[in-house]
Amino acid sequence: MTKITPQPGIMEIAPYEGGASHVAGIANVVKLSSNENPFGPSDRAREAYAKAAYSLHRYPSSDHAALRHAIAELHGLDPARIICGAGSDEIIAFLCQAYAGPGTEVIHTEHGFAMYRISALAAGALPIEVPERERVTDVDAILAAVTDATRLVFIANPNNPTGTMIGEGEIARLAEALPPHVLLVLDGAYAEYVEGYDGGAGLVDRRENVVMTRTFSKLYGLGGLRVGWAYGPAHVIDVLNRIRGPFNLSAPALAAAEAAVRDTEWVAKCRADNTRLRAWLAEALAEHGVPSDTSTANFILARFANRAQAEACDEHLRADGLIVRRVAGYNLPQCLRITVGDEASCRRVAHTIGQFMGAGA
Ligand SMILES: *Cc1c(COP(=O)(O)O)cnc(C)c1O
Repeated sequence: MTKITPQPGIMEIAPYEGGASHVAGIANVVKLSSNENPFGPSDRAREAYAKAAYSLHRYPSSDHAALRHAIAELHGLDPARIICGAGSDEIIAFLCQAYAGPGTEVIHTEHGFAMYRISALAAGALPIEVPERERVTDVDAILAAVTDATRLVFIANPNNPTGTMIGEGEIARLAEALPPHVLLVLDGAYAEYVEGYDGGAGLVDRRENVVMTRTFSKLYGLGGLRVGWAYGPAHVIDVLNRIRGPFNLSAPALAAAEAAVRDTEWVAKCRADNTRLRAWLAEALAEHGVPSDTSTANFILARFANRAQAEACDEHLRADGLIVRRVAGYNLPQCLRITVGDEASCRRVAHTIGQFMGAGA
């Protein structure tokens, strides 16, 4: 018998399941399962990507200086304290690798993003799940769960899959109350959807124990390219850069992301469309008897009477070529997460759910 065994914790990882994109027998599906931008990236990002095809024999930049400076310029940040990753997933993994490990604990919330648990286990640490208050992050519950072994606290704000967020005062209160051995990670994957919210960048500037992660996968429409970044105190960015592979981002990805962050007009248009269609969709579903919490992101968490009804509705949507996300794995079996698509998709999804509810579900 083989004695080849993985490190402790690895076999406890349930592999991440991405949003489905096919339904057997249906050609024109509408994919609303992965919180992608229905309009895709900026044309300037597409052009930069195509142009990069002429330099594929060259290694990419290893310090990501051009992209870091573009991000810093557009967000008003210090470029020296930005690090770029192959998606923010890679940065979440770096954080766990760098600060957590056997004998330590990593806190995430009851309905928190799956990668926190996966990356904590991969690093040999113990993930600690903390209750939320009616699908909203509970700062006091987090503080009550902190021990001497805690190293990281992950909060997505807005959170996926709930769509809810907590105010900047609450986040600041958490950062201040954490003991000095704990690093707070603010995952801002959906921060761009919230008008006037800096994702926690200001808090990062004021403190030594807060890191903010961001992504090009959602509002910027570049999920296929894998570009994310983080902003943090100099000591944290220095640590993360030591474990980052020198060529972790490809040249086309760097070029497209830089063009995307500079196209502020496209960003504003996508944000405005999302805000308008999200409100429309939430109201349409509520009229059909399907409530949702006020979402601050690019999806809605639709709540059904119970698990059976949520699953039956999902089947009904699928039969119509509409793919949404089941979230039982996030302790929300009675819910479906629906990405805000373009106007036609929103209308279709609302119509099909109305049909389902009307049929005496
Ligand atoms: C989508 C998402 C991410 C982004 O992942 P990438 O690796 O950047 O594509 C990070 N955190 C949350 C909460 C997300 O929903």
